[in-house]
Amino acid sequence: MRRTLSLYAERVTRGAWLQPIDMEPGDKTEIVVQGVAASQGIAYGQVFVYLQSELELPAYQVEPEKRIDEVARFDRALVVTRQQISKIKNEVEKNIGPEEAAIFDAHLMVLEDEALIGETIREFEASGRNIETCFHQVSSRYVQAFSEIDDEYLRERAGDLRDVAQRVLQNLLGQAENSLSRLADQRIVVGRDITPSESATLDRTAALALVMDSGSRTSHAVIVARSMKIPAVVGMRNLTERVRNGDWAIVDGYDGLVILNPSESTLFRYGKIQEQKKTFEARLMESNRQPAVTLDGVTVSLMANIEKAEDVAKAKAYVADGIGLYRTEFLYMSSAHFPTEQEQYLTYKSVVEAMAPLPVVIRTLDIGGDKPMAGKTELFPKENNPFMGFRAIRFCLEHQDIFKDQLRAILRASHHGKVRLMYPMISGAEELARANVVLAECRAELQARGVPFDDKLEVGVMIEIPSAAATADLLAPDCAFFSVGTNDLIQYMLAIDRVNDRIAHLYEPTHPAILRMLRQVVTEGHRRTLSVSVCGEIAGDPIFAPLLLGLGIDCLSMSPAWLPAVKYMVRSMTMADARALAAEALSMSSPKEIYGRCDAFFRARVRME
Ligand code: PEP
Ligand code: MG
Repeated sequence: MRRTLSLYAERVTRGAWLQPIDMEPGDKTEIVVQGVAASQGIAYGQVFVYLQSELELPAYQVEPEKRIDEVARFDRALVVTRQQISKIKNEVEKNIGPEEAAIFDAHLMVLEDEALIGETIREFEASGRNIETCFHQVSSRYVQAFSEIDDEYLRERAGDLRDVAQRVLQNLLGQAENSLSRLADQRIVVGRDITPSESATLDRTAALALVMDSGSRTSHAVIVARSMKIPAVVGMRNLTERVRNGDWAIVDGYDGLVILNPSESTLFRYGKIQEQKKTFEARLMESNRQPAVTLDGVTVSLMANIEKAEDVAKAKAYVADGIGLYRTEFLYMSSAHFPTEQEQYLTYKSVVEAMAPLPVVIRTLDIGGDKPMAGKTELFPKENNPFMGFRAIRFCLEHQDIFKDQLRAILRASHHGKVRLMYPMISGAEELARANVVLAECRAELQARGVPFDDKLEVGVMIEIPSAAATADLLAPDCAFFSVGTNDLIQYMLAIDRVNDRIAHLYEPTHPAILRMLRQVVTEGHRRTLSVSVCGEIAGDPIFAPLLLGLGIDCLSMSPAWLPAVKYMVRSMTMADARALAAEALSMSSPKEIYGRCDAFFRARVRME
């Protein structure tokens, strides 16, 4: 199914496109490549190919007369790398602390390692192969040897060595002046797979669009792109092998297209869409100041998802009714250590105070899965099935010291505004009861310390595992609200790995199984007067919003930038029509047809011109 999840969708008349992409790097004819539309919008600019996770190394023989130059090139790369690491070290020392900065001393030492450097030169002199190949070969041997050592400290050095080696190779290949966190200029970022920790550092001032070979609409990198309101297209298979840094491209996040070397007429066509988009955007912002009330007078709660304390500014600028999902794991992922109770308390407090009197739903740590904590391999060993592995509440219940630090911090923050606490990845009532026992211990500890907190703090669960959805009636007595995490719920219900591009097209939010589950969760929640929200990506999509509201969902929580579009939709429909849409959808069997109905509902009410 091709989705045009667009509030401003304008069908573009396209010629035939080539698929799979069949071109040589450097080819300048226009090529249209179809992927999966993941974040709306259109961008035009030059490409930056991000190959951080796995560099593609050229392999060739160096002619004897050029060998001195080759060694000089290696020396230069080592010097530049040393300068870069020293700079990062100083920044970290200034912004985080000396302890965290000390890790870079180990990196600097790697660059002075006689054995590593000497062996690379000897290998080069013996083989005559280019220095990247020799350095890669020698450093990989060292990484392998370190990672097999019994001693934990030395094993961790393998990670340092890998990091530094990667940096040296990037410098040799001339790729370092452009990094994901500091793009040299405005660029369309094209990568194979961009991990959550990488995407969290994405240069938000210069990224024009995001394109990935793999991934799906709920990959974290896409969530970041949506929050930045830049287009994203995923599932491009091998695009990174076909484009070069500096190539010109259009990214069409409505129809999931990347157009390389666009012709004049293509540029003209897309320019017109951009113009319309600007006008429409202004209209959306205008309507965003109005309340989220349907034409038949039903008020809908529209909240924001955030990952960092700084995101609150955006939530407020887009007039969110509160924070419906605060993904706290990014506080952990951006740190070299587990944040202390006090550090967390101060961060949460700043968010809560900034939003007060509006509510903030703080989700406890959802680490693991696609969000591993860097440098903590002993706590997060590699797993075959990370999405179904040791993550979120499972991790917290086994590491109660870490969990309790967070729970106490959240409780303390609740004294400063309206906080709701939410557990991720709850699979059933027993797990919820276990988490609540730990929470009760934290309350008692704070009481004993005389520390104030909101003793009426509401506790809710994310419904994102099918077993939780199926047992919503058993969970409801022990919590105050449900928030449906459709990103995960859909992947588990339909057995579609949410970051696997091969099956991204099968990730269908309008599958009848999903609609039935949602209806059941709403029914069970409302039976116990719980509020039921959706905080997965579909909540921020104006095509799905009427269906969700029609199914009885009370609140939608989304990337702040999508609030105007969803509010516009809410203000353009009646709740009676949304309910009729949901009832009709529940009687249908084809996900594509249900999607078609939602799309038609949307198009009948929202006009771009
Ligand atoms: C979800 O699963 O829908 C969700 C909101 O959580 P995350 O995307 O952080 O897994
Ligand atoms: Mg989830």
